[in-house]
Amino acid sequence: GQCIMACPVGALTEHENISDVWNAIADPGKYVVVQTAPAVRVALGEEFGMPVGTRTTGKMVAALRRLGFDKVFDTNFGADLTIMEEGTELLSRLSSGQNLPLMTSCCPGWVKFMEHNFPDMLDNLSTCKSPHEMEGAVIKSYVAGKLGIDPQNIVVVSIMPCTAKKFEGAREELSHENMQDVDWVLTTRELAAMIKEAGIDFANLKDEAFDNPLGIGSGAGAIFGTTGGVAEAALRTVFELTSGKPLDTVEYTVVRGMSGIKENTIELPDGKQIRTAVVHGLGNARRLMEAMQRGEKSYDFMEVMACAGGCITGGGQPIVDAKTSEKIDIKAARAKAIYSEDEAQTIRKSHNNPFIKVLYEEFLGEPNGHLAHELLHTHYTVRSKY
Ligand code: SF4
Repeated sequence: GQCIMACPVGALTEHENISDVWNAIADPGKYVVVQTAPAVRVALGEEFGMPVGTRTTGKMVAALRRLGFDKVFDTNFGADLTIMEEGTELLSRLSSGQNLPLMTSCCPGWVKFMEHNFPDMLDNLSTCKSPHEMEGAVIKSYVAGKLGIDPQNIVVVSIMPCTAKKFEGAREELSHENMQDVDWVLTTRELAAMIKEAGIDFANLKDEAFDNPLGIGSGAGAIFGTTGGVAEAALRTVFELTSGKPLDTVEYTVVRGMSGIKENTIELPDGKQIRTAVVHGLGNARRLMEAMQRGEKSYDFMEVMACAGGCITGGGQPIVDAKTSEKIDIKAARAKAIYSEDEAQTIRKSHNNPFIKVLYEEFLGEPNGHLAHELLHTHYTVRSKY
């Protein structure tokens, strides 16, 4: 009992969520779709004795199919969609000058921190839902239509590095026509528990590919898993949308690395300057917010992740024992794997993802357009201080 009191999203809830997902898979009336965040694939192997920083994308997909999911999609696609929407939002706020800096909204730990502590600055948060929530909304509308399945019978399961995503998944504003965009969130550790429970020999699985149409994610989508990744992904797209020309160098290395607050000014081809701050850890975020309130700092774009290093060290990731973490820099090893995922993709910019283009052409219309707003954007709630 003590543990439950101390940690409301602890072991008991985890166990309950695993049963919920097993029940959905066993229900013949349900079509169960799973999606996985970028940080999961670079850490899951640790639960099966693989070295820290091993990329297990193909084995993870193979395991999910064996667990009985009907479709295995990639949240990196949702990340690309987020960049299309958030990049467009950034360009329009830069030209109107309103609600700057634009603050990223993909980390529910940070969003809730803002709702509690800086309620007068909620308009600065991007209105974009986070990538897995956008993807859930697309699955229950566009994909449901393609498959000819009643969206009420679709169950969306997100595998996330994060315990805060469980709270996010249940937020009532993250729903459409009385359906939650995402039904269940499982952590990386919970997925490992299911794979073990099913007796799957994970280490010896052959690589398999995600299902389409939501199975292709660009390299830009992959780097969402580590600090600086959302900013870099956004800059790749915003630069090219502004110039109409391909970038000479895809990588914006200035926003990478593990220092707590990274400040840079990026110049766009039309001469516009974007003053960026990339922050990880809520202590750093609080310091920066307070400096902004005192008028000492100002930016155009802020990426904030609650966890040190970003999602690679999220609360749902494998727990590394003290002996290993003395020998290996866990954050650096997982981040390196994330950047290798990016380099391994032929498509490295969100706007070049062919299925993103098709989704806008066939269904959504324009980024930030009417349907995109209805399905992919949200609002925030003022909450009392703790
Ligand atoms: Fe979750 Fe941490 Fe990632 Fe935020 S940074 S989305 S709290 S894992």
